[in-house]
Amino acid sequence: MKTIGLIGGMSWESSKTYYSILNEMTRDRLGGLHSARLVMVSLDFNDLEPKLRAGDWDGITTILSDAARRCVLAGAESILIGSNTMHRVHADIAAAAAGIPCFHIAEVTGAALARDNRKIAGLLGTRFTMQAPFFSEILASHYNITTIVPTPEEQDVINQIIFDELCVGVITPESRTIYLDIMQNLQTSGADAMILGCTEIEMLIKPEHTDLPLYDTTRCHVGAAMDWALDLPNGTCR
Ligand code: GLU
Repeated sequence: MKTIGLIGGMSWESSKTYYSILNEMTRDRLGGLHSARLVMVSLDFNDLEPKLRAGDWDGITTILSDAARRCVLAGAESILIGSNTMHRVHADIAAAAAGIPCFHIAEVTGAALARDNRKIAGLLGTRFTMQAPFFSEILASHYNITTIVPTPEEQDVINQIIFDELCVGVITPESRTIYLDIMQNLQTSGADAMILGCTEIEMLIKPEHTDLPLYDTTRCHVGAAMDWALDLPNGTCR
């Protein structure tokens, strides 16, 4: 098994999920007492969030590139950036990671959608993820999948729930209903699949809450890294 590096803390709630799924997939594949070989650099999200709001992507790149270098120094053979939003600067972080694989969360989610022959995906995430083109461009150019996003008003509510509630571990039925209503609207607009494009959303929306096919980016991300770490064909761990 190869060693996976996780840049975490964005938020730490979703890093817990990364850690759990990485280990569960290892256990399910290797059995016995096996657990995932991991290196994690966990950042203080309180340092990053103001930079996000200010659009200081250079400052974010500096912090994340340093984290990637520290993962490599600690023995990581690949990198997972534990946040969709931060994939906006994926190319810079991958460059800092000195040539080891840095799995792109949109790329691996697109692969999962394509395996199931999905054509139009609704995208839920932070305002940055829904508005910036980095996710939709990869889905369109690599997989010929169209991305649709909620209305600007819906995006505001989704974003607020992520930062005010999910990132601090607050899960409420009211927010779940808001998300499910927005997902319904996206389905009415033609979505045949729903991307949970923020690594905390799977805490709120689970498959039992909807009939819509869900693509949880956290799980897709971990699955791709585990396939690589265990030398399995792409799409084996999910
Ligand atoms: N975990 C988040 C994501 O997947 C949101 C927090 C952040 O901005 O990093 O986008």
